[in-house]
Amino acid sequence: MFLFSGILAVLTLAVIFTSHYVTPTSTNAADKKQTKVPKNIIFIVGDGMGMPVIKAYRTFKQEKHSSSKEQTVWDPYLVGMQTTHPDDPRDNITDSAAAATAMATGKKTYNDAIAVNHETEPLRSIVEAAKEARMRTAFVVSSDITDATPAAFGTHNVSRKNKDQIADHFFDEKIGGEHKVDILLGGGMQYFDRKDRDLVQEFKKSGYSILRSKGDLTSQSSAKMLGLFQEDELDRAIDRPKHVPTLKDMTQAALTQLNQDNQHGFFMLLEGSTIDSAGHENDVVGAMSEMEDFEKAVQVALQFAKKDQETLVVITADHATGGFSFGADGMTSETGYKWDPAPILAAKKTPVYMAKKIAGGQSVRDVLHTYIDVSLTAEEILQVEKAAQSGKASSIQLSIQRIFDQRSFTGWTTFAHTGEDVPVYAYGPGKAAFQGWIDNTKQGKNLFQMIESPSTYRP
Ligand SMILES: [Zn+2]
Repeated sequence: MFLFSGILAVLTLAVIFTSHYVTPTSTNAADKKQTKVPKNIIFIVGDGMGMPVIKAYRTFKQEKHSSSKEQTVWDPYLVGMQTTHPDDPRDNITDSAAAATAMATGKKTYNDAIAVNHETEPLRSIVEAAKEARMRTAFVVSSDITDATPAAFGTHNVSRKNKDQIADHFFDEKIGGEHKVDILLGGGMQYFDRKDRDLVQEFKKSGYSILRSKGDLTSQSSAKMLGLFQEDELDRAIDRPKHVPTLKDMTQAALTQLNQDNQHGFFMLLEGSTIDSAGHENDVVGAMSEMEDFEKAVQVALQFAKKDQETLVVITADHATGGFSFGADGMTSETGYKWDPAPILAAKKTPVYMAKKIAGGQSVRDVLHTYIDVSLTAEEILQVEKAAQSGKASSIQLSIQRIFDQRSFTGWTTFAHTGEDVPVYAYGPGKAAFQGWIDNTKQGKNLFQMIESPSTYRP
């Protein structure tokens, strides 16, 4: 537990806001623009978004729009790659907690750690620095707000599993008399509205609007808001009930609020959290659904930055998930040599959605026929019927996923994470600091410097 001194914050501010921009040393006009310190920062994480998933999504998009020229909205802004490994005595593959801690605090730690070091002491995060600098703060995620990434940016805990404590921390820990995060939008109602404590009421009394549905994003929007749209993480976009907003809806609402009376700038964390969840399940339909939901939100952030010209947007991943491979068991004379998005586009819901229907008693044939817009072979239907005899939704889900994997030539190697480097994209003032092959701690180090020492900032 630690609280920041308000006096120190005021003194620091006096230094920060007298010299918001550095004098560029370069004579090149384009470089000058890049070396300017951003007023606003939008830090974007595609959780579990490794390169093969990006390649697959780009190909999926090309097929969907019948255009080989389609790119992702972040493709033009690639600046480099970053490491993902934790500082862990046992592991050299990261979890989301250690990776988020590295990016949020500039320091590596052990897997499971929420912005604490090996001695379990809190590591100061860029959100805390931003709040001390009187910047407005917002988290927009598709997981529960207590999940590892938002938790590491906004709280401290010895373990990501302590979700009730993490939710408490979002309310209890203040900087300069204010909660650390002004706008919290995502899932996880069960961790805030509990038997032992009603954080929803506490936030409400503290001046936050409480949002529970997509409609509330327009009718109840305010400078301080807590939006919890489902009990746990949000459903995959393709399965999401109508009252649950998209990541884009939440991003738009947050940016509209952040940009009002915006004197001191803002820090926003935007996460496409459930690309990772689909990866853990080895669900290619879910992964493409979440990539699409994520891309639309990133587009809103980039459009804001392009118009504003004082906003830095960084887009990266914390790690890859599932060992997703673009191409598996392919290359026969019949099939050719490819990864094929067409069968994935034929899905109207994810396999997990279909599996629940079947486990709930609906017929295999009816469910597959309703939600997959392709005629399946007798063998494919039989494999799901066999799984259905077990009555286990998880087995049924895997049997349906196998259909999509085989038809699309998608491969998976694990239900966990993989340890490769991931891409980094950046747009706007300060983007040069993220170039090249960087350690994931460089993200936090760069942002600390931009927020706390803009007068000495050099990319
Ligand atoms: Zn994960």
